[in-house]
Order: sequence, then C-alpha cells, then structure tokens
Amino acid sequence: KKVYLNGEILDAENAKISVFDRGFLFGDGIYEVMLQINSNFFYGAEHLKRLAECLEKINIKFDVSSLPDTIEQLLQTCELEDKDCLLYIQVTRGIAPRKHSFPTNIEPTLLMYAIPFILPDINEKPISVVIAKDFRWHRCDIKMTSLLGNVMANDVAIKGGHYETVFYRDGKVTEASHSNIFFVKDGIVYTHPADENILNGITREIVIQLCRESNIPIQEKGILEQDINEMDEAFLTGTSTQIASIQKIDEHAYYEGNEPGVITKKLQLLFLELKNSYVS
Ligand code: PMP
Repeated sequence: KKVYLNGEILDAENAKISVFDRGFLFGDGIYEVMLQINSNFFYGAEHLKRLAECLEKINIKFDVSSLPDTIEQLLQTCELEDKDCLLYIQVTRGIAPRKHSFPTNIEPTLLMYAIPFILPDINEKPISVVIAKDFRWHRCDIKMTSLLGNVMANDVAIKGGHYETVFYRDGKVTEASHSNIFFVKDGIVYTHPADENILNGITREIVIQLCRESNIPIQEKGILEQDINEMDEAFLTGTSTQIASIQKIDEHAYYEGNEPGVITKKLQLLFLELKNSYVS
C-alpha cells in the first residue's frame, strides 16, 4: 500500500514521521476525508476549501492549491485514478522541540492515502444511536486530528451495538461523533446551525441545499434534547455515512420495521440522483 508523505509516494511501511512531529505529540493538525465517485471527487473543491479554512483557523500556513495535482499523481500510482475510493489528507504543524508554543518557520507535514471504497447506493439499513452530553472542547468547527473525544463517544455506541453517539450541549442536540444530525417535525427539517458547536459537514450543506431546491422547509435550529422523542424522523449525514435513517435513539423508536420516514427517504433519493449526475 502506497502513501504520499512530504513530496514522496512511498510504500506505507517505508513512510516515516518524526516522533517530534506536533501531529503525533499534540494532535496539532487538520484532516479531510473525501470520496472519488465516477472519477470525480464528490464536492472535492468544498472539502479542500474547508481544509484551507481549518488550517487558517489554527494558523498553519499551507497552500492547498497544489493538492489536486498531487492527489492525481497518488491515485495514478495506486491505480485508483478511475476507481471509487476514499482519500485521507492530513496536514500537521510539523516538527519542533516539544513545547506548547510553536516556531512559525517549520514545514507542515502532509500525509495522504487513498483506499478503494464502495459506497452503498442508499444507506438503507436503519440505524440505532445513543445520546450523550458533549464533553468535547468548544471549537468543534475545526476538523482537527485530535479526535479523542469523538473516539471515546463513538466507542460507547459501538460497544453497545449502535452506529453513533449523538451529542447535546446546553440542552440542544448538536451533532454526532463523526456525522451531523437532522430531525423532521411536521414536514420541517431541522439541523443545528453551523457554529462552533459542530463541524459543518459537506454532506450537511448538500442536504440543506437539496431541501431548498425541492421546497422542503429547512431551519438551522438546534432541537432541544428533551424534545427528541417528539420528532417524526431523524437522520445522520456524513461523507461515509451518507444519509442514514435513525430508527432508534436510546430507547425511543421513530418507526418500526425497515422503512424510513418520507422526508428522509426523499432526501436519500435526491442525494443518490445528485451523486449519479455529479461532475466536478
Ligand atoms: N461531524 C463530525 C464530528 C465529523 O467528524 C464529520 C466527518 N466525518 C461530520 C460531522 C460530517 O462531515 P462531512 O459531511 O463533511 O463528512
């Protein structure tokens, strides 16, 4: 398996990163995950824009404009240029003596790899989730590599046989450990506003856009944790999650059987159409 590291494409076992890399010591870095579908990166420009914005927020100077060419080389080397695949990109602040304060003249470390990835047409399997108080920090808008909070929350879900842990903060449902959450009530779609309490998912933005184009009322408003059982439908969105219908949240079932709610189903179909017709 090949990876790209700081200008070279190497066998993964030969790719070496310094133990003084701040990504390793502090989780001081930003990452992105995007999918190539039908030889196009699905909303690739938006993913790279988010990467650039997050790097800017933590003051890592790195120009993302050269990435598309580098990505093409990597995919060619891996013989994935025309295959559906998942691309992981990570930029860390670089190597420096271990101190909180960082020198400004260090070279960021760039790591990328691609793996074959087959997406389901529609995420048809209903999922169950658990809900927990958000114990992460207050800058969830930054897609940082230090994911311990997300990892711990996700672990609780997986060990209990669930897909995700959904968070609430200040009484409102925010997002999940690796996806965003939407609710539907009386024909209106709700999702938490894109502030510092959530990562503004590219899939989240696409779903909002699909609602607007199809005249499905959408409000960026956090649903109260105490009201989740009153909702008609709930679903998760994310690059690898796509649109996944939530059948059960803790002990509460939104529906019995396998058929998601009408609006979730409609958005899943619109999303499928978009993927099939997408050209970057
Ligand atoms: N929230 C969190 C915490 C995430 O890690 C992710 C990405 N997996 C998302 C939301 C969804 O973002 P996207 O749709 O861009 O994959």
